[in-house]
Amino acid sequence: MNAPPVTGKLLIVTYHYIRAPKAAPYPGIHPISPADFAAQVNEMRERYHMATPVEAERFLQGEASLPGPSVLLSFDDGMVDHGEAARRVLDPLGIRSVFFVTSRPLVEKKPLAVHKVHWLRANTDPRGFREEFEAALPEGWRAGNADAAERADATRRYPYDAPEDALLKTRINGKLPNDVVDAATAAMLRARNVGDAAFCQQLYLGESDLRAMAERGHCIGAHGHSHAAFSRLGAALDADLHANVDCLTQVCGAAPAWVSYPYGREWAIPPEAGALCRRHGFRVGVTLNLGWNEGAIDPALVKRINTNELAQFA
Ligand SMILES: [Zn+2]
Repeated sequence: MNAPPVTGKLLIVTYHYIRAPKAAPYPGIHPISPADFAAQVNEMRERYHMATPVEAERFLQGEASLPGPSVLLSFDDGMVDHGEAARRVLDPLGIRSVFFVTSRPLVEKKPLAVHKVHWLRANTDPRGFREEFEAALPEGWRAGNADAAERADATRRYPYDAPEDALLKTRINGKLPNDVVDAATAAMLRARNVGDAAFCQQLYLGESDLRAMAERGHCIGAHGHSHAAFSRLGAALDADLHANVDCLTQVCGAAPAWVSYPYGREWAIPPEAGALCRRHGFRVGVTLNLGWNEGAIDPALVKRINTNELAQFA
């Protein structure tokens, strides 16, 4: 006899910065405020079943149904903001979530290039940032004049940004090598007397924070060591993931079963995601391909949305 089909559907919502929007003089970080976050969580729990990571994992693997439309919350990059959100909002409500953690800040005490860019943009006027960033790049990597196709591609990748910012983000996140961006932003932070260790301490959860969250029933997932897009790492991808998995296993006492592909959109998803997940022991791989997970689900290509896309889907 065949097992009955798995029923239910799952919407995974992801969060990055959760902090007061006016904390920095310029845009660059697009946070949700702690009050809006709490309100959003309350609204979702009134309308949907809040799945635990274990329930979600079994559903995505086709092993167990969900009790109707369900929501799982996820948080990318291991930020201090997420520890606060868990303590103040999720834990009192008994909601368990998935926190995807990048290990470089933990192991090397070095911030991720992407967060240095966010901080610099939030604290530098936009034109000044673009000029200073270009000047900090080695000659061969400067923008010059991007053609129409490159600009159209940028707008498609970052529909929520102004065209100049979309182009800059496309170059920073997808076109320029991660180490080139890393070196340029490190130089810009040095010029502002901002040290790596202080930056990390302010922005990222520490090992004891993560361990405590795991002990409270949250799931700590992998998100790469360097936060470079997996699609761009080539032969270096396995080493990057090994470093990430080793670190999280040591911190939490168990190997991560979930992975979130940095940047998550189509261009950033690793080729042969299923094989990659099997190789590294991941049961679930999440993207930013938008939508509910239902019907035939590939557990290595799970759909997910950003918090600002919630109105479209919930
Ligand atoms: Zn990320």
